[in-house]
Amino acid sequence: MPESKPSVRLTFHGAAQTVTGSKFLLEAGPHRVLFDCGLFQGRKELRLRNWEDPKFDPSLLSSIVLTHAHIDHTGYLPLVVRRGYRGPIYCTHATAELLELLLPDSAHLQEEEARYANKHQTSKHHPAKPLYSAADVKQTLLQLKRIERDRETEIHPKIHVLPRCAGHILGANSLTVDVFGKRITFSGDIGRYNVPILPDPCGVDLGDVLLCESTYGNRLHAAADIQSELAQIIRTAADKGGPIIIPAFAIGRTQNLLYYLAQLERTGEIPVLPVYVDSPMAVDATKIYRDFKHDYDTESSKLLNEGETPLLTANTTFCRKVEESKRLNFMKGARIVISASGMITGGRILHHMKNWLDDETTTVLFVGYQAEGTRGRIIQSGSREVKIFGSRIPIRAQIETVSGLSAHGDQSELLRWLKSSSGSPSIAKIVHGEPEASHEFAATLRSQLGWKASPAEYLETIEF
Ligand SMILES: [Zn+2]
Repeated sequence: MPESKPSVRLTFHGAAQTVTGSKFLLEAGPHRVLFDCGLFQGRKELRLRNWEDPKFDPSLLSSIVLTHAHIDHTGYLPLVVRRGYRGPIYCTHATAELLELLLPDSAHLQEEEARYANKHQTSKHHPAKPLYSAADVKQTLLQLKRIERDRETEIHPKIHVLPRCAGHILGANSLTVDVFGKRITFSGDIGRYNVPILPDPCGVDLGDVLLCESTYGNRLHAAADIQSELAQIIRTAADKGGPIIIPAFAIGRTQNLLYYLAQLERTGEIPVLPVYVDSPMAVDATKIYRDFKHDYDTESSKLLNEGETPLLTANTTFCRKVEESKRLNFMKGARIVISASGMITGGRILHHMKNWLDDETTTVLFVGYQAEGTRGRIIQSGSREVKIFGSRIPIRAQIETVSGLSAHGDQSELLRWLKSSSGSPSIAKIVHGEPEASHEFAATLRSQLGWKASPAEYLETIEF
């Protein structure tokens, strides 16, 4: 008698018509496997979901598998552990290293928030408690189980996972999962093509079901020559003799910038300037990027073989300590300061802005998306002043933006990844996108590829 195949159930516990909270629960036979375990971020009604009881029992999970380290894919892990999960959390080596940075930072932010709420009585809970603590994170990190990219790992009998490079951030993968003879592909977050350091997203063998992200599912990135735009801005700024301040995400963006700056110095398109990486997380993340050389693309590997250091300019200083950061304020002459947070919502960048925004020789260079309501957006959109630490700071600095440095592929790049993959899924569920992006991307897959594609709904279950 042929062996009967159990049906497979997949439930969307997050990233359904939103870009955060990625959590997909796969149930097959006796196993319950959670793919990604992300925190909801952004709008209040989404963030409140982090505080609700989970809609699955964490203590009954068999295993957890991660696509990459970003908090919207991993930031809920300590909560699942706090609620009794003691099994393995599978991820690649680079993802594990990045989680050692990101999860303690996330716990710290939660604890700070609770402390602030208690001090200022801003919470209806007395006392306000953090979502999770440093101790929960410590236990979570002990459960990480490192697996290899491009190699199939049996996580349970008849459940195999194959991670392939997604080109999004260091260690980021899409996952092909074979479960009791059926195949599911989780895209993870798909990166851009032809960007520095990391290889392009790698096509996969699609099977029965596809979960595809759609962050930029309805948009195209501006076609820009990033290197020459950067070069032009930096040359002009250097002539003014003041600081060039670049707010940048600590993981991914900072390293791409360092790569571009080093490249422009080598080709003589910009003068050699002192470059300061002023954010402890960016300093640590850059070290991890420099350690994982076997994850580089061919161009970066070639540079290494030629004795170059692709992530170091001729004069890079890493500022970990607060005193080192403070010292930057008393320096003179043209210099580049890369600092976080990327949208000027917190961190050391606030001090640099407070000190230098009202100086005409300063250049502020934006290299990432600035969300509505952030200080970054206010400064970028040409406002004459901005509030920092309670003071109104006049803006006299030159404000510049280089676009196209996104870590996410746009609609054409998502399609390119799907077309470079083989097979056509019988079900395509569109995840990790705002409603408009998800709907438009699903419609694009229906019309261009003829696939049965639809946006996932929160807590929807499909069975196949
Ligand atoms: Zn991501």
